[in-house]
Amino acid sequence: MSTSTQPTSTERSWVPLREELRGVEPYGAPQLDVPVQLNVNENPYAPSAAVVEDVAASVARAATTLNRYPDREFTELREGLAAYLGREAGVVVDPAQVWAANGSNEVMLQLLQAFGGPGRTAISFAPTYSMYPEYARDAMTGWVAGRRHEDFSFDLDEARRLVREHRPSVVLLPSPNNPTGTALPHDVIGTLCELVGDDGVVVIDEAYAEFRRAGTPSALELLATADGQGHRNLVVTRTMSKAFALAGARLGYLAAAPELCDALRVVRLPYHLSAVTQATALAALRHADELLGKVEELRAERDRTVAWLEEQGLEVAPSDANFVLFGRFADRQAVWQRLLDDGVLIRVTGPEGWLRVSIGTAAEMQAFRSALTGALAHPTTEGAGR
Ligand SMILES: *Cc1c(COP(=O)(O)O)cnc(C)c1O
Repeated sequence: MSTSTQPTSTERSWVPLREELRGVEPYGAPQLDVPVQLNVNENPYAPSAAVVEDVAASVARAATTLNRYPDREFTELREGLAAYLGREAGVVVDPAQVWAANGSNEVMLQLLQAFGGPGRTAISFAPTYSMYPEYARDAMTGWVAGRRHEDFSFDLDEARRLVREHRPSVVLLPSPNNPTGTALPHDVIGTLCELVGDDGVVVIDEAYAEFRRAGTPSALELLATADGQGHRNLVVTRTMSKAFALAGARLGYLAAAPELCDALRVVRLPYHLSAVTQATALAALRHADELLGKVEELRAERDRTVAWLEEQGLEVAPSDANFVLFGRFADRQAVWQRLLDDGVLIRVTGPEGWLRVSIGTAAEMQAFRSALTGALAHPTTEGAGR
């Protein structure tokens, strides 16, 4: 186990790299082999034997025709995802409103490739998902980050100012937000869609939507409908990586107006979703209830974690996701290291002084609590630097 980082190839002078990529570190939360991994918001529960069997049988069937390219339009998968979204959010979603790719990261890169580009600008509001500026850079799109309020709620005045000034063609906003866990109210999303208008798309990244608390709505409810309601420039992205417990399969998707989905076909690579991926995702959808069966438990564990952190006198951001941002520490790196020394890996992310912990099993959260209790008692790591 090592936390040292090696020099990246981008620093080698002979590499004919784009100027703006020189010296840039590749994305990477440390992948360390420690007993308690609470750093990348995965679902801690591995698929059951029944799910594994169905995935394996489905992949075996797909393997018999691997000499052929897969269905480029992943028709059956789109139908399955549309039906799932309909059930999950209580809205009608047509398969023509669904698009998918290898993780929602690829979905969002495609959105930037189609709707960003040279001379155009993407915006978000910090603290926000650290990958967004990288998609913008890779799609040669300008990047502007506004601020949220101190309590991480959305600052609509700031948004109005930024949209007027930069006329963004892409707005990227996670809801619930990563790393803070804060969900966006409907009126904020609606106002943003109106402000941006047909100059751009408003992408609400609902990677953690299934973990939202009762009463927190999904942006899916605001999509344009046949009777002229809703917003045609709204895009809602989802993923099977988090609540669905399928991070290893790499399947992300979105719901939007059919015209927007159609536009993405221009920039996607040919046959970008492999037959193996499609078969795996379809098998997982057949077991959706079981795979999502632990969401309730994880939500309860999250609420317990928030309450416990508050009892320790820490600041805690209210969370609709499967992680909690807490602080503030004068030396967060030292706290992170102390936990790691106890075999608990969490994440240094968010504004200075804060740390993020993903919600694991009850036993993993017990290990986290005892490691943090130890760290807080230690003279060099105690004390909030607020
Ligand atoms: C984890 C996460 C995703 C999911 O990425 P995948 O590529 O689908 O695994 C998307 N957005 C946010 C904000 C995330 O935290």
